Amino acid sequence: MSRYLAIVLLVASLAFVRSARADQFENEYRSRYVRVEGVANRAQVERACDEIIVKLAERYGRPRRWTQFPVRFHRSRGGPVAGYTAYVRPAVQEIVLYLPFEDALGGALDHELTHAFFFYYLDNYFDLFLNEGVAQNSEPKSRARLRREVYLRCANGKTAPLERLYGRNEYDPELLLYVQGFSVVDYLIGRGGSKWFAAFLDELTNGARDLNSALRDFYGCESLDALEREWREYVRNGQDRLAAPAVK
Ligand SMILES: [Zn+2]
Repeated sequence: MSRYLAIVLLVASLAFVRSARADQFENEYRSRYVRVEGVANRAQVERACDEIIVKLAERYGRPRRWTQFPVRFHRSRGGPVAGYTAYVRPAVQEIVLYLPFEDALGGALDHELTHAFFFYYLDNYFDLFLNEGVAQNSEPKSRARLRREVYLRCANGKTAPLERLYGRNEYDPELLLYVQGFSVVDYLIGRGGSKWFAAFLDELTNGARDLNSALRDFYGCESLDALEREWREYVRNGQDRLAAPAVK
């Protein structure tokens, strides 16, 4: 389940939005957004990637830029890493997946494409805790398991204070970045919706706002500690997004 963001090197260019006319000349089976390698049914997998990316754009808003990048499927290494996304500003270098397409769809594939999407949405690096949190929120296969896990971890005192998770640039041994990241992002999206959350990320990243002042303006929380109290109450009360207090 663990994934990491690798640092490597550079570029290429293809516009995110192409004219309808240009698309007529494109092979209908070629993706506009990614280039899939390592599968027999490349056309099907590229269509699935495109659908995920289009849904992300509908949910969060259009990315600032897009450069086509490879999605590479490899035979499983047998280790805990399901895949990773390598990004070197300004371009995603590659997504690598160690699962067959059928296993990755709805899970690791959606997760890694969400990392890629937000790098282009923000055109920037951003906080690892929120990065993993928003990527985990894109995994329909994992939501129920993550909700149970975060509830149990909170009930048994096996969580970390958010101040130890936010602002990290490396993974914690218990992978709380994933579990608590998922849940805190789930709570924030529940309060203001997906586009509001994406605007919050943009303000934090590109508006160079400090966390507490962005939390105050977007969510009415005075600090990360205040958010932590609200979030723990949300978990105790059953993680009902619809019951989370709206921000507007
Ligand atoms: Zn990830």
